[in-house]
Amino acid sequence: MEKADIIGSETLFDCIVVGAGPGGLQACIHLGRYNFKVMLFHSPGGRTYHAKHIENYLGLPLVSGPDLLETGITQVKNFGVAVENAKVERVTARERHFEVLAGGKTYLSRFVIAASGARETLAPFKNLLRFFSISYYTCMICDGYRTTGKKLLVIDRTANGVRMSIGMKQMFTKDVTFLAHGFSLAPVYRTLLEDEGIGLVEGRPEELLGEKTLEGVRLSDGRVIPCEVILGWGSVSLNDDYLEGLALERDPEGFKIVTKGSGESSLPGLFVLGALRHGHSQAIISAGQGAEAAIEISTRIVEL
Ligand SMILES: Cc1cc2nc3c(=O)[nH]c(=O)nc-3n(C[C@H](O)[C@H](O)[C@H](O)COP(=O)(O)OP(=O)(O)OC[C@H]3O[C@@H](n4cnc5c(N)ncnc54)[C@H](O)[C@@H]3O)c2cc1C
Repeated sequence: MEKADIIGSETLFDCIVVGAGPGGLQACIHLGRYNFKVMLFHSPGGRTYHAKHIENYLGLPLVSGPDLLETGITQVKNFGVAVENAKVERVTARERHFEVLAGGKTYLSRFVIAASGARETLAPFKNLLRFFSISYYTCMICDGYRTTGKKLLVIDRTANGVRMSIGMKQMFTKDVTFLAHGFSLAPVYRTLLEDEGIGLVEGRPEELLGEKTLEGVRLSDGRVIPCEVILGWGSVSLNDDYLEGLALERDPEGFKIVTKGSGESSLPGLFVLGALRHGHSQAIISAGQGAEAAIEISTRIVEL
């Protein structure tokens, strides 16, 4: 097998990977170690980049998102993967390969792995960024453990927050208050919270209080709700603009991309990882999906 073929005067990569989060990086580690010709496109930021403490990743007792990614980039470069700091603008499917437009240039590849993740829209509370991922969290799986034994405020715009508050109390801390953001909670949920010993506040949070340490939340009517940690809401949009126009099957809501077990989408040769497809959003899960996609791609390239 040749490491890379040529179409016209253009190099044909074995695989182009979009996104240098844990998913894309792990795929590159596997692909690079097959000695394939691989290009990784990397645009700064991403969900892992914003994680201050990751402590549920095997082998790494505590690592920050940026440190995990930096180590990963060095690792993939050591296996011969080309890393380009450029945002992929478009992927086009041709009969036997893909064209990938990035940084104003077109690259050709047999396979593409879309590992571009999602971006978060955070609640518009003053000072939120001061505490984000330190004592203001949006993901129970990621950071619920960090609220253990602390005075917790759960903030949600829907009654889903009731379920979350009960779960948080069962797993992490007895001191939970639910703040119903901008709505009045139905009586059945009030009774539920009362039975569980969870406090209820209704109002509009405006500002997080505290300089170095979170001390509470000020509501628009001036009330202050003390807390040490917050599980708040955020909404997520997929980083998938560059896939527009491709014949990709989506879920019934038209949101996530449908994939087979190995992560291949309905478009042969295009694999999808992490937040772009269904499943729990976790760094280690994305990494596992990256490994799986890479192994599947290797069997196609060498026809094992
Ligand atoms: C605050 C916070 C804390 C978290 N804590 C944990 C934790 O403790 N444990 C855990 O397992 N998970 C945690 N997560 C979740 C975890 O970050 C995600 O599950 C993880 O990001 C998935 O990795 P990924 O590779 O799929 O995507 P990402 O990490 O989002 O990486 C995608 C990359 O693709 C890039 N990209 C996007 N579009 C393009 C494009 N067009 N061209 C090129 N590049 C592009 C992005 O900039 C980004 O670098 C946390 C998330 C957040 C926000």
